[in-house]
Amino acid sequence: MIKHKLVFLGDQSVGKTSLLSRFMYDKFDTQYKATVGIDFMSKTMYLPDRTIRLQLWDTAGQERFRTLVPAYIRDSNVAVVVYDVTDAKSFEAASKWIEDVQAERQGQALIALVGNKCDLADQRVVSKEEGEEKARSVGALFKETSAKQGYNVKPLFKKIATELAGMQ
Ligand code: GDP
Ligand code: MG
Repeated sequence: MIKHKLVFLGDQSVGKTSLLSRFMYDKFDTQYKATVGIDFMSKTMYLPDRTIRLQLWDTAGQERFRTLVPAYIRDSNVAVVVYDVTDAKSFEAASKWIEDVQAERQGQALIALVGNKCDLADQRVVSKEEGEEKARSVGALFKETSAKQGYNVKPLFKKIATELAGMQ
């Protein structure tokens, strides 16, 4: 079975761990527990015509773990770059994360840009169009999600899996 390695990147608190726990366990925790270092999970996805195994690497945004991240980027064929639609700084930082991926992987990685927390409509400061535009400019897949409501989380992974299947 083909294995794919996905690394989750993005500033602290954008919802990387929440997206993973929604996808893995269909759970959402409102209490914030900062990820320490790097966490690993794996999941099998059954597509209509094939089965693929995903290895999911959740990274922490804290500065003291930053030095670990490049090795995980180098080792992954997919980078999921997450920002928070209510936090403009996290959206700017997404460009920096994407640049890191492009530098480490010389354009060889599939990148998915994800605007999370879209349930917080009244606090939104990054429009869907801005997200789409950034994704288009770097050739990344794009989805807006809510880990809290479970909105678009499965479709995000489905889209990534389908894209990977098409690339084989
Ligand atoms: P990480 O640091 O990127 O892993 O972020 P976390 O997954 O730990 O989430 C940070 C905080 O944002 C937590 O308090 C979560 O409950 C909250 N959060 C995560 N995703 C969402 C979402 O889709 N909507 C809302 N409203 N809150 C979210
Ligand atoms: Mg985390």
